[in-house]
Amino acid sequence: TNFSDLGLAEILLRALAREGYETPTSIQAQAIPYLLQGRDLLGIAQTGTGKTAAFALPILERLIADRRRPAPFTARALVLAPTRELAAQIADSFRSYGQFLRPSVGVIVGGVSHRPQIDMLARGLDVLVATPGRLLDHVASGRMKLAQTEVLVLDEADHMLDLGFIIPIRQIVAKLPKKRQTLLFSATMPKEIAGLAQDMLNDPAQVAV
Ligand code: AMP
Repeated sequence: TNFSDLGLAEILLRALAREGYETPTSIQAQAIPYLLQGRDLLGIAQTGTGKTAAFALPILERLIADRRRPAPFTARALVLAPTRELAAQIADSFRSYGQFLRPSVGVIVGGVSHRPQIDMLARGLDVLVATPGRLLDHVASGRMKLAQTEVLVLDEADHMLDLGFIIPIRQIVAKLPKKRQTLLFSATMPKEIAGLAQDMLNDPAQVAV
């Protein structure tokens, strides 16, 4: 398989070539076709497997297929990550794969001031990458609205469990539209994560690497 066999747009293929990606990794080859069909996904994958591109490319493909502008204080795709560092890396990946598309990509994490984050949210985002606690602060103060989110990605779900993020994640999910695409990635599947997957995914395709 190569990336063009997966049905990705030329504008993404060009960025991948420029980044030196020649062939899809196993998780990419398995997951991308399901995600382009709009399916939910349960991905059992560790970091280093290429899982970021596996979810980022189909989200970028959605932005290409439907170029609506995000409303103020909303994001079309929401990616939840356990740490600031991972959130920043994921956002960089979206910018890299989307380099010829220039989507608006924002990061919301704790430990920094609120004001610049609010200004960023006010413009509306194609993709928001966030840690759960600070995102909930903005939701509580009305500076972020989740009801128009089209795609939710939960990355490193088992790591989020270890950091005590299950309740905040459930609070976020409760505010998302029922009709959405949902992806959950985890390296391991403890029972709390299996329960979360059961509650938030709708007939998910399952991929393990
Ligand atoms: P990830 O598991 O998403 O953190 O990706 C691990 C590393 O693999 C990152 O440095 C990516 O840039 C790189 N990578 C992901 N997919 C590919 C690919 N298909 N070809 C070459 N490198 C890749």
